[in-house]
Amino acid sequence: MNNKKDIRALSKEQLREFFVKEGDKAFRGNQVYEWLWVKSAHSFDDMTNISKETRAMLEENFVINHIKVDAMQKSSDGTIKNAVKLHDGLIVESVLIPAKNRTTACVSSQVGCSLDCKFCATARLKRMRNLNPDEIYDQVVAIDKESRLYHNRPLSNIVFMGMGEPLMNYNNVLKAIDKITSDEGLGMSPKRIVVSTSGVPKMIKKMADDGVKFKLAVSLHSAIDEVRTSIMPFNATFPLTDLREALQYWFLKTKNRITYEYVVWKGINDKQKDIDALIEFCKFAPSKVNLIEYNPIDDGEFQQASNQAIESYVSQLEKNNITVTVRRSRGKDIDAACGQLANKS
Ligand code: SF4
Repeated sequence: MNNKKDIRALSKEQLREFFVKEGDKAFRGNQVYEWLWVKSAHSFDDMTNISKETRAMLEENFVINHIKVDAMQKSSDGTIKNAVKLHDGLIVESVLIPAKNRTTACVSSQVGCSLDCKFCATARLKRMRNLNPDEIYDQVVAIDKESRLYHNRPLSNIVFMGMGEPLMNYNNVLKAIDKITSDEGLGMSPKRIVVSTSGVPKMIKKMADDGVKFKLAVSLHSAIDEVRTSIMPFNATFPLTDLREALQYWFLKTKNRITYEYVVWKGINDKQKDIDALIEFCKFAPSKVNLIEYNPIDDGEFQQASNQAIESYVSQLEKNNITVTVRRSRGKDIDAACGQLANKS
């Protein structure tokens, strides 16, 4: 471990100020910033248009903390899972999901998770720390490179659905997205980014107030408080009425519809009353539903519901003019599917 400051924690303005204080030109800050973010320099020695003396001075004061893809696993369906080692040795996972016309990166925002969803492998790791903006950004850069290398096209979409609850690390997630969408970063459109939350009402309102341009998905899984609390215990603190009110606020301010992520489990939420409650919940703000195939993580407390139950959801949602998609899981053979990320590799 190193006590020098991570230079990528500085904003462009802070870098410019640093150089002025050192008796250099503010412009030097722009040059270094470009090396760090556009050219992804891993060492000060790579910065060939910066004098040797300046590079040595930077070396004395700072460190460039880059992630390292420690292990990469490829699924038979083309999905790739990266085990990403951070500068302090901790590991998170990110996943590349190829489809016909797009490649999606699923990235992590925390090491472990602050929340305790019963069906999720990450929850068992507990939260160890938040990821820094550069650690989130680097996961995206790594997947973009893999997408170009193995699928002959750049990364097109990003979902914050990996390890962690992104809204519990809001400031760093926002800073990472700023870099990803900036011309001085990856220049991606915010419309191609989805932040998926388990539903923290106060933070959903804050996002709306902050005028964010990315899309919002909520892991809903049940629109009945009692059921939701049994599988997502934090729902006792943030009940559905609060969530509903925050989502209405979100739509009012952003005019962006919400995606509900929803897994149907046998014996948990596969009854008619569950479908009725979801249909009612969808009426509060314009939304669509993704029904996601479940990937068992252990001895079978949670099991995928029957096809009949899923078809029942689909037909009744459609009858009520609610857009619904059934999402098949990808990368199951390498534990890369939703809810399976737990540093097992
Ligand atoms: S589902 Fe998401 S919010 Fe819930 S424990 Fe897992 S990583 Fe955390």
